[in-house]
Amino acid sequence: MSHIILDGRVVREARLPALKEFFGGLAKPPVMTIIQVGDRPDSTAFIRAKSTFAAKVGVTVRHIHLPESITQAELLSVIAENNKASDVHGIIVQLPLPLSLDQETVIEAIDPTKDADGLSAANVKRWLSGHPAALYPATTRGVRELLSHYRIDIFGRKVAIVGRSMLVGKPLAAWALNENATVIVCHSKTPDLAAETKQADIVIVAAGRPGLVSAKHLKSGAVVVDVGINTVQGQKLEEEVGRRLVGDVDFDSASTVASAISPVPGGVGPMTVLALFENLADLIRKAY
Ligand code: NAD
Repeated sequence: MSHIILDGRVVREARLPALKEFFGGLAKPPVMTIIQVGDRPDSTAFIRAKSTFAAKVGVTVRHIHLPESITQAELLSVIAENNKASDVHGIIVQLPLPLSLDQETVIEAIDPTKDADGLSAANVKRWLSGHPAALYPATTRGVRELLSHYRIDIFGRKVAIVGRSMLVGKPLAAWALNENATVIVCHSKTPDLAAETKQADIVIVAAGRPGLVSAKHLKSGAVVVDVGINTVQGQKLEEEVGRRLVGDVDFDSASTVASAISPVPGGVGPMTVLALFENLADLIRKAY
């Protein structure tokens, strides 16, 4: 089937000038603090992609790189300092954290008015309740903007989401419900994944399982959004920063039945980076 490619790089480039103009119009460049604990290569790659984009739109990234041995109390005190710093407008803690740290407590320590990832309880409550100015986590916002750019409306449509994590699946499900889609949430214990996803007009996959979704999971003409980022044995990780990656969708197979499909790399990944800085702009406008 002929299909549209949902190209996140194109959308990101199209929206970059407006962000640059907004940040450039402020009295001084805003600061986004990115806290990294440990040395996971994927986290390092994501932070590099965010920092590169920040430089393009005129945001200063304060990358605080802490050792894996840091205690919870020390990490909370770094967050408290950044909450207090009047020149810092956004704070993100790069996830996942080492298991020795309590992720929930750490996220909760971020001032909700600086929570660029939209994961603190105050922000979660907003996106769960469908508050009109809810600040969605960056990946959800990225998917929203990607579909919106290609004029794919989810209102009244059946949307299947594969994955139920707090970072991706749940906020996607909340957003889709808030937009009046009928939502099917699938996960690792769903007995027959294909039976669920085949009902959907739009399938959003965020499972972290390479090739999980193929043509047999899709109805003809479905829109497919691949959030997955997986390393392939012997290959490198992130194309955008000089490495390679694959998604959760078997692109060649799925594109035989899909009407629109996002590639990996070059689909949701660039949109997530863009959305993080669109969230920052909203925090600065106090529009969250
Ligand atoms: P996670 O491991 O926290 O959650 C994975 C989810 O997938 C779980 O809810 C699990 O139930 C479900 N799942 C696993 N195997 C399944 C199966 N066989 N069938 C159905 N459901 C299954 O991961 P996450 O943080 O939600 O991330 C998911 C993927 O998205 C990863 O590949 C991650 O790297 C990627 N990701 C991409 C971006 C981006 O910007 N593109 C951002 C965040 C995460």
